[in-house]
Amino acid sequence: MPCSLKTIYYGQPIEDGIVTISRAAGTITYPAKFVLVAASNPCPCGFLGDPVKRCHCMPGQISQYKKRISGPIIDRIDLHIDLPPVQVEKLTGKIQSESSKIVKNRVQKARDIQTRRFKKTNMVCNSDLSTKVIKELIPLSTKCQTLLRQAVSTMHLSARTYYRTIKVARTIADLEKEQNVSVSHVAEALQYRPKEENW
Ligand SMILES: [Zn+2]
Repeated sequence: MPCSLKTIYYGQPIEDGIVTISRAAGTITYPAKFVLVAASNPCPCGFLGDPVKRCHCMPGQISQYKKRISGPIIDRIDLHIDLPPVQVEKLTGKIQSESSKIVKNRVQKARDIQTRRFKKTNMVCNSDLSTKVIKELIPLSTKCQTLLRQAVSTMHLSARTYYRTIKVARTIADLEKEQNVSVSHVAEALQYRPKEENW
């Protein structure tokens, strides 16, 4: 975030959900809570990893292209998913995908669980959890802790990513209506981290 002598941004707006701007005339705080959904091509030509079409980009071009999104921003995106191109047969086929109504019901049930979890707090959902209360509200088994420790070492996760992964694992458990976070929930949450070779 840009910063000059006249304009100062305090704290971490994405984590805090507010942005405070201070200028000579005074200080003002704006809400900064949002859900970011973003998509990008894997390379300038768009065919890197495509099973059919060939990517013609040079490794340096791909690397430069990916650096257009900074590491700290990538770090704060919880779910990274590779989407393969949709095949024409699937577009014209008769296989029905899950309806939005069914997905909405599943999400609402998970949100209801979170509402009950946070009823005595000023939090609304898992993403609101601060690092201070995560240990208390999301207890992890020894197996889960071991898996996370291994991931920190092998996937070079930051402390921020460590806690964000726990929150995603808790949300996956809520979607499955499970009371406790299991190793499979943590493993799935880790799969949503960006592959190192991609970034
Ligand atoms: Zn390419």
